Amino acid sequence: MLEVFLTEEQKRFKQEVQDFVKSVPRQLILDMDADKIKFPYEFVRDAGRRNLLGIRFPKKYGGRDLKWVDEILYIGEINKLGVPFACLCSVTSIVGEALNLFGAEAQKEKYLKPLIAGTQWAGEALTEPRGGSDFFGATTVARKKGNIYYLTGQKRFTVGAEGADFFLVYAVTNPGAGRDSLSAFIVERDMGVEVKHVYGLMGSRGTGTGRLVFRDVPVPEENLLGKENDGAKIFYRMMVPERLLSGGVGGSRAILEVAARYANKRKAFGMTIRNFEGVNFKIADCVTKLDAVSAFAYAVAKTVDDGVGTPGYQRRLVSELKKLATQTYWEVTNDAMQILGGIGYTNTYPVERALREARLAMIWTGTNEVMNLIIQHEYYKEILAKGIEGRDVEADVALTEEQLAEERIYESEPIPAAT
Ligand SMILES: Cc1cc2nc3c(=O)[nH]c(=O)nc-3n(C[C@H](O)[C@H](O)[C@H](O)COP(=O)(O)OP(=O)(O)OC[C@H]3O[C@@H](n4cnc5c(N)ncnc54)[C@H](O)[C@@H]3O)c2cc1C
Repeated sequence: MLEVFLTEEQKRFKQEVQDFVKSVPRQLILDMDADKIKFPYEFVRDAGRRNLLGIRFPKKYGGRDLKWVDEILYIGEINKLGVPFACLCSVTSIVGEALNLFGAEAQKEKYLKPLIAGTQWAGEALTEPRGGSDFFGATTVARKKGNIYYLTGQKRFTVGAEGADFFLVYAVTNPGAGRDSLSAFIVERDMGVEVKHVYGLMGSRGTGTGRLVFRDVPVPEENLLGKENDGAKIFYRMMVPERLLSGGVGGSRAILEVAARYANKRKAFGMTIRNFEGVNFKIADCVTKLDAVSAFAYAVAKTVDDGVGTPGYQRRLVSELKKLATQTYWEVTNDAMQILGGIGYTNTYPVERALREARLAMIWTGTNEVMNLIIQHEYYKEILAKGIEGRDVEADVALTEEQLAEERIYESEPIPAAT
């Protein structure tokens, strides 16, 4: 995050997160990337012990009562360990958001507290094999008999399929009711969740990403989160941390620095390559984009903190940030690799791992095409509802009203009927 926005307290907090990030063994990063580790339990427990999980949640559940702006700062530092680590810390924030805002007191005691403490882990099970973008088309069903719901269906790509103690699962309770058809459930692994497949990933490995199968899994009614058929409300709220936290681009900042230091030392044609415009303009473009993303991330986080605007307006900004931040992450990492030349493509530098991880960010938590859908939808809704604010720029033209009426044509005239 840009220095200008940081208070003294946030600078101390940043230092605390940096100390934790520095303490994480390099071997863990390498072993996760090599798929030698299915789930990094020790990392999660250590983060919990240091009170560095679920930092926005109330102190009474073990959180720190911090703000979204603090969380952006936090996730930007965690992100220097790589995308899988930022992902794990984000999952606490995402599932925790649902538990904190919609959970009954007993659910918060049972699930939110250990999640923040790092003694239990959660998975977020939204995406299904039939598709993730069309969330409301989910086909996992929950049928109620007595005071038990029986869940049947599948969820795909769940981080923590291997590793999580419980899952936040969306299932149909009101078939055919569109956005009112889904409910959210807290489903413990031991209730009968099966892990059918653990994926071989291009990057971002070591977080137990797999496919879950539910065959009439009995879930007691006290594990319904919020009200029946209110899944959409919970989903929309979870999408705030899910997408906003993409704004913590510390990982690509760190990779850009690797490239800049390399360019400052590496020689070609008798001079350091930073003297070539093809190299140094890339650095300039990358750092400009990262600074713009960081400033925007702060603005969006503060908008949500302060509750500015309608939920639709906030949704638009959060989606814009997700799109901009993840595209930038990819572009910067890709440029960093170009600057390193051939050696960047090898495992001599962490750039190739970062590039493999960066590619995922434009796909998960809602693809960037889906972000565009939301952005344009909310933007049209806003401008058409409010009318013209301030000066009417459209009127600043030389034509008369009569000429305008003839020239500003929006649809074709009906063909006159034959006489
Ligand atoms: C490593 C990894 C970890 C993940 N972790 C989780 C997790 O923990 N929990 C979870 O629930 N999910 C998780 N996901 C799933 C992820 O969020 C989805 O993959 C993503 O939302 C896209 O869904 P899909 O893969 O089914 O693609 P599809 O929905 O099938 O989309 C395919 C393509 O079509 C495009 N498309 C679809 N609809 C439209 C449209 N209306 N307009 C324009 N383009 C469209 C998409 O942008 C995409 O390019 C993870 C995925 C991966 C790869």
